[in-house]
Amino acid sequence: MDCIFCKIIAGEIPSNKVYEDDRVLAFRDINPQTPVHILVIPKQHIASVDEVNADNSDVVAHIFTMIPKIAKEAGLTNGYRVITNCGDDACQSVKHLHFHIMGGRKLPENMG
Ligand code: 5GP
Ligand code: ZN
Repeated sequence: MDCIFCKIIAGEIPSNKVYEDDRVLAFRDINPQTPVHILVIPKQHIASVDEVNADNSDVVAHIFTMIPKIAKEAGLTNGYRVITNCGDDACQSVKHLHFHIMGGRKLPENMG
């Protein structure tokens, strides 16, 4: 499968990892939009939020238990934003489910 994040998981493309376990990988975004910009992804290929279902939602729940720990470890002690883009209108560019952890400065109120 021609998926850039699956290649990162496989180690075929290098990444700046900040957290890894058997089900989840977190790494720095290559083009950070905020002082701290981390991507958290499931190791299994799920294309987007549209593909989350009762059979694979455990890993999503697990991701959300890890996000606060990853954020704290990255120094985000004054809050952060968690974003996932789904589909064309949201400008999802990588079709592998990922959660952006963004922070390190005051973020704009406007979400779009
Ligand atoms: P999306 O627009 O799909 O929500 O976000 C995709 C994100 O993946 C973008 O913020 C982009 O900078 C990041 N990205 C794309 N390719 C790579 C890569 O090869 N390595 C890393 N670390 N981030 C990537
Ligand atoms: Zn993938």
